[in-house]
Amino acid sequence: MEKQCIKEYMEMYSKIAYGKNLKYATKPEIWGALSTALMSQIVDKWHDTRKAYKAHKAAYYLSAEYLMGRALGNNLINLQAYDEIAELLKELGVNVNEIEEVEEDAALGNGGLGRLAACFMDSSATMHLPVQGYGLRYRNGLFKQYFKDGGQLEEADEWLGYGDPWSIRKDDYTVEVKFQDMTVKAIPYDVPIIGYGGEIINTLRLWQAEPLCEFNFNLFNNQEYDKALEEKNRTEDITRVLYPNDSNDQGKLLRLKQQYFLVSASMQDIVRDFKKHHGNVWGDFAKWHAIQLNDTHPVLAIPELIRILVDEEGEEFDKALDIARTTFAYTNHTILQEALEKWDIRLMEILFPRILQIIKAIDERLQTELGHKGYTMEKMNPCLILKDGKVHMANLAIYVGFALNGVAKLHTEILKETELHHWYTLYPYKFQNKTNGITPRRWLVLANRELAHLITNRLGNESWAMDLTKLKQLTKYIEDEGFLEELMAIKHEKKVQLAHYIEEKEGITIDPDSLFDIQVKRLHEYKRQHLNALYILDLYFRLKENPELDIPKVTFIFGAKAFPGYYRAKSIIRLILAIADLINKDEGVSKKMKVVFVSNYNVSYAQKLVPAADLSKQISTAGKEASGTGNMKLMLNGAPTFGTYDGANVEIVGESGEENNFIFGLRVEDIEKLQNNYNPRAYYEQNPDLKRVLDALVDGTLNDGGTGCFRELYDSLLNGVNWDRADQYYVLADFKAFKEEQEKVFEAYKNKKKWAQMSLMNIANSGVFSSDRTIMQYANEIWGINPVE
Ligand SMILES: *Cc1c(COP(=O)(O)O)cnc(C)c1O
Repeated sequence: MEKQCIKEYMEMYSKIAYGKNLKYATKPEIWGALSTALMSQIVDKWHDTRKAYKAHKAAYYLSAEYLMGRALGNNLINLQAYDEIAELLKELGVNVNEIEEVEEDAALGNGGLGRLAACFMDSSATMHLPVQGYGLRYRNGLFKQYFKDGGQLEEADEWLGYGDPWSIRKDDYTVEVKFQDMTVKAIPYDVPIIGYGGEIINTLRLWQAEPLCEFNFNLFNNQEYDKALEEKNRTEDITRVLYPNDSNDQGKLLRLKQQYFLVSASMQDIVRDFKKHHGNVWGDFAKWHAIQLNDTHPVLAIPELIRILVDEEGEEFDKALDIARTTFAYTNHTILQEALEKWDIRLMEILFPRILQIIKAIDERLQTELGHKGYTMEKMNPCLILKDGKVHMANLAIYVGFALNGVAKLHTEILKETELHHWYTLYPYKFQNKTNGITPRRWLVLANRELAHLITNRLGNESWAMDLTKLKQLTKYIEDEGFLEELMAIKHEKKVQLAHYIEEKEGITIDPDSLFDIQVKRLHEYKRQHLNALYILDLYFRLKENPELDIPKVTFIFGAKAFPGYYRAKSIIRLILAIADLINKDEGVSKKMKVVFVSNYNVSYAQKLVPAADLSKQISTAGKEASGTGNMKLMLNGAPTFGTYDGANVEIVGESGEENNFIFGLRVEDIEKLQNNYNPRAYYEQNPDLKRVLDALVDGTLNDGGTGCFRELYDSLLNGVNWDRADQYYVLADFKAFKEEQEKVFEAYKNKKKWAQMSLMNIANSGVFSSDRTIMQYANEIWGINPVE
């Protein structure tokens, strides 16, 4: 990177774009000028990468979500120009951190699924794999969260306020997407994905919806201003927000429109490119492309490809279906029934009847095939694509796709044995496992520069960042007191940094010398933040009773957004805030423990929380968390896992050893045995501590702001609400085991050397959780693509 060159560019850009000399530029302006300057530096390599890929089979990753976070710091790391640019900024009189901090997160995703897509982009580029991402350029990403009067409120996420220097609008690649009632333009915005080392630059193509015509001139002339802009607004609604509320029909219609908009634009783009380079030899299509469907959200790509081949290219239906059968693969991310997508046939009929017709034809082929295999209608039923007035998206993906994968070993086993057993008996060869991963560049090199330096220092060079299994070499320091002390000094430094940030952002003072016990992830009942909360309340009561209780000083930190329409998730946030309020205000107890719920948990907050964690809380009901990736980020940064045997926790503990983690609670087999005669009330009646904390929900100890939501939560755990049985997620059944395991944490934390060794064993054994490993497995075992020189 030419430092002088960057500086000159920034000076020029400041004049052109802001009309001022760079020395008068504000921080957001410096961010914009620097980002644009860096873009100018990578354009040639970006072009070269595209060209080099043309001679090879490529994979296309279709995802409705990309939870990218900030771009500047990550791109500087991957360009290996961080220190140089930090110096340049210093010459301009600003600190690189301050400039990084003004950037808004690109939060075009909800949680783990969207973050996985972002990590895969990074790893594909770093591994030189010809992979292109396709997604949507939501004008508003995931809502911003703040707390008021003890509960969560939301506001729009206007992430484009300072402009978008990290994408390039490509008007010449515009396509038209046709719905029954309207035709709209899809404009691509290309985001560069810089591979580590800066040589390879992949592309994430995000589509934005725009009207064919800006406004109706005649209506405007007649002074019907709102009407003149109606078409424009209706079109722009398609990519206005990530996941609009889908609890009513209008919302549902819009969500389905979004999905079709994404896949139609993407498939047209892929077909256009294929024709340009290979003519219309459709039999070769699958030799050049593999298309990965990230969950069911982009599954309409299957009928859309068939539509293009049949209606626009004149292929026969069965030939088109065969092409689809060799092109698409599907990733399943959840076994929660409520998350399996089913769309009303009626909605599809309204929006795109031709697509529905194609889905019907596919369903007929399925029924014929199963009929030949001797299936009765009853036996066929779980596999049907169309039934009960709905389109079952996962069934469409599994029937047509050539591969389907779960995202952790346990998850894939559950799919095979129970949830998708009917499919497994039909097509065992389609089933694969691809345990999730995380990119070590963002989650260690960028987020924990101090630890990265220590590792580079000890291993001799930086190559571990591209081959994370090299971290295993660190085990040789397991008895090296000097190394262990350095490791703990870095952890302490990250805790100090986090404490400063929390002080500034949340106005809460925490002690970096206390144990940081962290649970950060989306808020869901199955993730059981309320189990953690009830434990904390129990600890509070015990400290009130006995102020001399022998525990190390501890800070419990939560971060989580609740879906705005998910009532009980919001109650749980309110509960934790009320407990935090009770404890932090108690002069005696708060000397020993504090509770913080950080607001607006997102990728950039995660980058501060993860390196500062002493303990990683991963306590989902066994069998419910498909994989988790937060658990991997925390392991990589040296936090032992406190968790259930669920998702990738199983593999994490398999790598780093049970003795270096804290495993508790019911396992999948235990829950299977318990489920038909589970009686949560028995636990309540037999365990006085548990009774005490549950009663605190309804006896006035805790203030729910007059909402009645703590009573509802109490009822959901003890009595069942509506049609749901009591305590569906086995909170009460696991309470005692949780408490006993937490005692072990406190005991272990007292021995500083032992704790440092546990931390080291987690770091050293986290190599397999690099998304570089995951993406190479997709490349080799699903897509059949190779790294390109
Ligand atoms: C990694 C990550 C997640 C996923 O966390 P899990 O604990 O695996 O559910 C969600 N949100 C953000 C911001 C993340 O960085």
